[in-house]
This record gives sequence, C-alpha cells and structure tokens, in this order.
Amino acid sequence: MKTAEEEKRHAEIWRQLRSTTELHAASWQRLQAWRARLPHALLLSGARGLGKQDLARAFAASLLCESLQINGSACGECAACHWFEQGNHPDFRMLTKEVSMKAMDKEKSVKAGVSTDKDEKEEKSNRSGQEIIIDRVRELDEFFAVGSHRQKSRIILIYPAESLNAAAANAILKVLEEPPANTLFLLVSNEPMRLLPTLRSRCQNLAVPLPDAREAAAFLGASGLNEAATWLALAGGAPGLAIQLAAKTTDWAAPLTDALQRGDRLEVIATAANLEKALKAVKGENPLPMFMDWTQKWLVDLNLAVQHLPIRFYLAQRAKIEALAQKSQPVKLTRFYRQLLQLRRESEHPLNLRLFLEQFFFRYRALFVES
Ligand SMILES: [Zn+2]
Repeated sequence: MKTAEEEKRHAEIWRQLRSTTELHAASWQRLQAWRARLPHALLLSGARGLGKQDLARAFAASLLCESLQINGSACGECAACHWFEQGNHPDFRMLTKEVSMKAMDKEKSVKAGVSTDKDEKEEKSNRSGQEIIIDRVRELDEFFAVGSHRQKSRIILIYPAESLNAAAANAILKVLEEPPANTLFLLVSNEPMRLLPTLRSRCQNLAVPLPDAREAAAFLGASGLNEAATWLALAGGAPGLAIQLAAKTTDWAAPLTDALQRGDRLEVIATAANLEKALKAVKGENPLPMFMDWTQKWLVDLNLAVQHLPIRFYLAQRAKIEALAQKSQPVKLTRFYRQLLQLRRESEHPLNLRLFLEQFFFRYRALFVES
C-alpha cells in the first residue's frame, strides 16, 4: 500500500510526463512514428528548458510500458511503469552529469590517498559534475551483456548529451558501430553542435520547437506556478526554464526590476548596497550570472521599445520600459550593451561585488541622463 504522500508523488510524476507530451504534441507524434521501427539512436535537441528530458522520459516509459495507452503514453500503473518511476527498471539506464556512486567511492579513495593518477583528470572533472565520463559508459557493458529483461527495448537516456566528454562520446560511438539489438540511445541536448559530428550523424534527429505561448502558460499554471505568463516571457518561452527562474530568483528579483525601472532617478549607492545584501544571502551557486541575464533581457526590451517594437521579456513592466525608451538613444544603448557583455564575463568571478554593482548601475543610469 502506498501512503497518501507516495500516491500524490506518483500521480504528479505521470501527470507531468503526460502533460509534457501534450504540450509538445507534434514532437510526440514524430516519436510515436519511430516506435514501429526504432532507430539505434535518437537525438532530441532544442532550447534549454523546453522539457526535452521529460519528453524523452515519457517516450522511454512508453516503450517499456506493458499496458500501453491508446495515445501511445505509458499507463503509469503496470509493473514496468512502477520500476521506471522508482528508477530501477532493469532495461533502462540514465547517464547524466551527476556524480555516480562508483565515482563517489573513488573520490573517497582519492581523499584517502590511495588513488593512482591514471584517471586523475577525469576524476577532477567528474567531481565538479561538469561532464559525463567514460566510466559511466563502461558501466553499460554489463547492461549489454544480458538480454532485455522484459522482452522489450533497452533504453539509455543521455542528458545533456553535450556534456559527454571526448572519451565517453567515443565509447558510445563504438557501441553504435555495432549496435546491440533492441537497444535505443536517447540523446537529449541543448547544444547539439557541441556533440561529436560523427555521433550526431549516427542519430535520427528530432528538433523540439518552442511550444505555443498560451499552451505553455496553461501547462505552467497546471504545474502550480503563479504568474506563469510573466515567468514564461522572461524564460524566452521555455517552460522548464520558467520554473527554474521562478525557483532560483527570489529576494533580488524585485529590487532589481524596481531599480531598473527608475532610470535616471536611480540611487546608485543605496541600490548597490541593497542588492549586494540580497545577492550575498543566496545560498549555493553564484547568482550574479543570472542577475546579469536578467539585466541583459531588460536591455533587449529597452532596445526593442526604442525601435517601437513589441517587448519580449518584461511584459508586466511594458509601460515603464516604453517611458524609459523615450529618454534614451540607440547609440547609447549599443555602447552600454557592449559594456554589459564585458560585465557579464566579470560576473563569473567578481572581485568586489559592491563595486561591481555600483559600476553597473552608474553606467545604466547614464543611459537616461542628458550628456
Ligand atoms: Zn505501464
């Protein structure tokens, strides 16, 4: 028996997968068309945060499901779906940037000083979780050694595929040269041009487009996101990214938007102090690159407004942006945009956050001041 909590989680997982296939209905139909004659490798590519990984997971689940629904979706209730949900279906493997248990054990032995330096480079990159390393591909050997457990396909989902390092990508290429029977590699990539061209050419390609904005907003609303249209616009139309933005952007978002819309009335010193505090309160990764993304989007909107074009991101602040646009000039905006790109690079490792913010806001305010 499942507890109420488990039941809720179970329902939510399958609801999420099903609504992703509805949101990307055209892509889902193309995937279904491949079902009759499954290729050895499929590459789903498209902008970050579209829901490609969920789409791939929904497809994998539908291939494993033992009681397929009429629209091609997994049932969510059979034994295979149950294992899939628990992450232990014997015919499914997932390769991601996460550090594997094996690698963690190795890391422990590195700390204990019993490591050889042979794989030291890989260990190092793996510790930061930035790459999918060859060890993960080697772990698939035993997966291939035995036949499919449930007389269906074996599936390996790789996400994001561009983080396969060279050795790992070559190892997969090798497998694809003599592909094991009934085995599907499902590669998911935000940046397919970073994949080995030889690997890319071995895959059937599915480019997943941006979903319709209204449907995406409804999808987000159903997932429990407030102000879905606003977040969706800020995410450039990618629903998964909208959820991430909403989750990661907390205390500094409102003061930043407030400061930006003040234009020439911006109080630089006080604003910088205020935002420094909010940014420093963020736990985990450095929030400054995201902060800079937000300001870059604001500038894109301002630039559009200067040209009397509809803005794209800050829909809720449209009137303010249009008013600011009247005080600025295209030549100043272009110059500032270049400075912004420079600041964007510095934001990865700012030496002094307060100075960085002051410098940024002084330059921003100058956009609206007669000179
Ligand atoms: Zn099922």
